[in-house]
Amino acid sequence: MLRTVILAAARSSRCERLVATAPVTRNVVHRFVAGPRPEDALRVTRALVADGLTVTLDNLGEDTVTPEQASAVRDEYVGLLESLAADGLTPAAEVSVKLSALGQTFDEQLAYDNARAICAAAEARGTTVTLDMEDHTTTDSTLDILVKLRADYPSTGAVLQAYLRRTESDCRQLAGAGSRVRLCKGAYREPESVAFQSARDVDRSYVRCLSILMAGAGYPMLATHDPRLIAIGEDRARWFDRGPNQFEFQMLYGIRSADQARLIGDGYTVRTYVPYGEEWFGYLMRRLAERPANLAFLAHALMGR
Ligand SMILES: Cc1cc2nc3c(=O)[nH]c(=O)nc-3n(C[C@H](O)[C@H](O)[C@H](O)COP(=O)(O)OP(=O)(O)OC[C@H]3O[C@@H](n4cnc5c(N)ncnc54)[C@H](O)[C@@H]3O)c2cc1C
Repeated sequence: MLRTVILAAARSSRCERLVATAPVTRNVVHRFVAGPRPEDALRVTRALVADGLTVTLDNLGEDTVTPEQASAVRDEYVGLLESLAADGLTPAAEVSVKLSALGQTFDEQLAYDNARAICAAAEARGTTVTLDMEDHTTTDSTLDILVKLRADYPSTGAVLQAYLRRTESDCRQLAGAGSRVRLCKGAYREPESVAFQSARDVDRSYVRCLSILMAGAGYPMLATHDPRLIAIGEDRARWFDRGPNQFEFQMLYGIRSADQARLIGDGYTVRTYVPYGEEWFGYLMRRLAERPANLAFLAHALMGR
């Protein structure tokens, strides 16, 4: 219920104004976001890579409404990739891209063209791109664009969300050789017709999907902070004889950092998803929806201003 309310607030410009203009919000945002500028992303990436982590960088922003905005996002990513390479941070750092930020909501061909330019820039600098997955109305379009991108850039990563009923079947489709697939629970508010509603059903789906990916020939990227699912991932890795370079764990910046360090210490590959940029509101609200304790933290900060 609380999750539904927070995810609805994520779409409210009034709520965005209230939260964004409170000076104390900055502290809350900085827990989850590297900072507003590309230099912030580079600084945080440098520190994480020095600690033995790999990174995927997300330029915050979604649902662009004009071709000019979409081109600006594309150029931001191309510039970021150049800076990462110049700093010697590739291939340890790759980028995560939301197709809605590249024009998907109003022109799929444009989103594909922009994503293709980012994939070309990433390949030229020896690193990769992963296409974030957004709400279920975009799944087919995103997977269609993925297939087209992979024709020229086979290392392009997909994201599948365990809460969607369709995902087990998508995992089977995408478990082939060389296929990089991030498996997450899913962060959007989805109707019962397409998505499991209870945490228990989502977790069960995650285990079924994880098993399909780990049994397959691709490269699974297990994106979760859930200790039980991480333990099952470790178990399946032993079962299917996958070494530390044949799959990876992924977690979000600022969440369960001690677990990230523990997994590195145990010899696993761990990738931290690092968001940066001015448009942090939707991202922050999804993080709050995942954990009511984060909401209490924000409410406390807002009341104390
Ligand atoms: C690398 C990465 C990429 C992702 N990409 C996508 C994507 O493209 N599309 C998409 O829909 N979703 C994406 N997600 C979000 C994902 O779908 C979940 O919403 C999110 O990861 C929470 O689920 P969980 O598996 O960690 O399990 P949960 O059951 O939500 O959490 C398990 C435990 O982790 C900790 N935790 C989890 N979330 C938080 C938080 N916000 N703050 C503090 N502690 C927390 C808590 O200790 C919690 O008990 C991504 C997640 C990761 C890690």
